[in-house]
Amino acid sequence: MCADKRTYRVGVIPGDGIGPEIIREAVRVLDRAAEKFGFKLDYIYLYLGGSSIDRFGVPLTDETVEQAKQCDAVLMGSIGGDPVTSPWYRLEPSLRPEAGLLSIRKALGLFANLRFSKLYDDLIDSCPLKESIAREGIDFVILRELTGGLYFGEHKTETVDGEEVATDVLSYSDHEIRRIAVKAFDTASLRGRKLTLVDKANVLDSSRLWRKVVQDVAKDYPEVSVDYMYVDNASMQLVRKPSRFDVILTENMFGDILSDEASMVTGSIGLQPSASLAEGSFGLYEPSHGSAPDIAGKDLANPLATILSAAMMLRYSLGEEEAACAIEQAVETVLKRYRTQDLATDDTEIGKVGCTRMGELVAETL
Ligand code: NAD
Repeated sequence: MCADKRTYRVGVIPGDGIGPEIIREAVRVLDRAAEKFGFKLDYIYLYLGGSSIDRFGVPLTDETVEQAKQCDAVLMGSIGGDPVTSPWYRLEPSLRPEAGLLSIRKALGLFANLRFSKLYDDLIDSCPLKESIAREGIDFVILRELTGGLYFGEHKTETVDGEEVATDVLSYSDHEIRRIAVKAFDTASLRGRKLTLVDKANVLDSSRLWRKVVQDVAKDYPEVSVDYMYVDNASMQLVRKPSRFDVILTENMFGDILSDEASMVTGSIGLQPSASLAEGSFGLYEPSHGSAPDIAGKDLANPLATILSAAMMLRYSLGEEEAACAIEQAVETVLKRYRTQDLATDDTEIGKVGCTRMGELVAETL
């Protein structure tokens, strides 16, 4: 090993269900990328969710948090089991697998969630939108604020003048908006240089502050063009003309709703990577789908969302842009000839492969 080789410490959380299978393939591809592009990855395997409950009795330990904090980035499979049959769901809510995920996001200060939606030319058939719309191209990312807004404001239900009144407070501070706006502009600079702030500034004070702060941050990014869109219009445009979007920046609740809509427009959950970012370059990267307990251990899972999440990690946390692009290109190339069962097609020219073979094909194509 040459002494000056770029070396990164990566936390790896295989998790539950299909998690260990898809992570194994992502690590295979990362190892190949490291070999080809001349850097080194030191992996630290961590427990979270059901696997942590089985081993330590809790879904997240302090030790896991400490180890994750020592890493440059964390790559995760998925956590959780079948909510009906798994014994993890007979535990009280704070001890269930998902509680571990919420806690680690908080402990690592992950305030920006990125969900990538890209429709590959060869997968236009999987898109539920009209072909004429799909052919215009779909390739955008939603940056959703994760730790503020309505979900984290005061919630109360009281009786006023003899009737029940419920209140949820939506509040954002300048610094909460500014730090994610910077991430959004940085992201746009690495992509199509176009940012759309989605808000409801015709009604909400918090949205008006979002606009003000975004306009201020925009001064540092003259190369990025910015536009503003009300959330009701944005939800229409996502299905009417998704090609118009590059980077969408929005607050917590709007992002929650729009990112689910966005996950449908490409039609293939097995292809959607996501990232949750903290201050600086640290981030946690994972596929957008869950742990798919129905197909776990059968070599049926599509590992591509996890492999693409690994590419995002190389780009956004480790600064290995060339390797990230090469992985994305390898995935696109392999999809022209091979698919896992979730993307099965009648085309006899396309080979049907399992999770392991799909990982091998991407690594070999790199
Ligand atoms: P899911 O995403 O796991 O599965 C939904 C459907 O999509 C299933 O039919 C599954 O087989 C299929 N699917 C999902 N990923 C696939 C892949 N890579 N390849 C092929 N098919 C795939 O959603 P669910 O069934 O609602 O949830 C199952 C478990 O996952 C639950 O415990 C849930 O809490 C958990 N979950 C975890 C995360 C996370 O770790 N961030 C996210 C969502 C759900």
